[in-house]
Amino acid sequence: MDHLFDDEDLQATGLKLPTTAWLGFDHDTTQSYGVVDFETYPLLRGWTQAELLDLTFGRLSRSVSYTLSMLQSWFTLGFLEATFRQRFRTRDFVSGDQVFRTRFLRQFTKEKIGEVYDMPDAEVVQFLEALDEAQKMVYQWTVKLELQGNKTSKDLKEERIAPTMRLCTLIGEAIRHFQDVSSMICLSWLKREGPSWRYSDLNRNLLIQQLVKKGWCPSTFELLFKTSHSTIELAALLEAKDLKSGRHQGCTKNSCIAYQLLEETYQTSHVDSSCACSFIAAPPHRLATILRQGEVPVLNLDALLDDSNEETVTSLKGKANVIAFSHVWSDGPRQPC
Ligand SMILES: [Zn+2]
Ligand SMILES: [Zn+2]
Repeated sequence: MDHLFDDEDLQATGLKLPTTAWLGFDHDTTQSYGVVDFETYPLLRGWTQAELLDLTFGRLSRSVSYTLSMLQSWFTLGFLEATFRQRFRTRDFVSGDQVFRTRFLRQFTKEKIGEVYDMPDAEVVQFLEALDEAQKMVYQWTVKLELQGNKTSKDLKEERIAPTMRLCTLIGEAIRHFQDVSSMICLSWLKREGPSWRYSDLNRNLLIQQLVKKGWCPSTFELLFKTSHSTIELAALLEAKDLKSGRHQGCTKNSCIAYQLLEETYQTSHVDSSCACSFIAAPPHRLATILRQGEVPVLNLDALLDDSNEETVTSLKGKANVIAFSHVWSDGPRQPC
């Protein structure tokens, strides 16, 4: 998921991205071939149709480690080559630490979009069709490999291919996004319904575990999973804004207990327990007067915090730069509008 960040983002946020080890398939020298469509990638490298079919049933004809390395190369570099119809090299994604990173795609797609801008419309349509085709084919293969119902052998374990399938889904989403952006410059492109990339149950559960660990409420998961996996992966790296750790442990996917407050027993508290700040409040009579006049009161935060001698509450007149909150919960979360 490195393609989602640049160095500045990472430095500013201090995020540690999850890593996927490169399994060492020799895509560049002994197994280096021309650009082909997705299904031809393994065939060109000596795999037979029967062997590939076996894989979909979980059966292996070669060693586990060699098979996993081929699958990883096929579903990442092979996917990209089939999509963009050009060679991709291992060294663009793998450096000395043998970790597969997708950062290269940031620069690549930036340059590619420039190329698309300069293409005549007919060529853009052809290009976008190729993107569509490759995605469909790869998606079908991910389903075949991940589907557990048809497995007659346990040689190829679900958890062993999960990291590759996760990478493939994130690359698929990035290509989909790239396709959406490119299609905006081509008037004659009729948008197709592309594959809706989704994680296997296993990868989904791993991600959910990570979200729970970071304090996210299970009642938000359904909503989160309606966005993209890239978004959820990002959420799973961040501490939930609700800083009181463990607060949502009793919540379920259907309801949030933490937000069901009992007014009689609820006590407000500081975000940081060492803080001793006191409540600030706008004078209610001023608010009431302004509201009675049919006007909108505006609070001056500096004045309320005694950092300014201006009026704490004024009436909104003409244009002003203000921040409006629809409401503020007593435990902190709010909805700006
Ligand atoms: Zn909750
Ligand atoms: Zn405080």
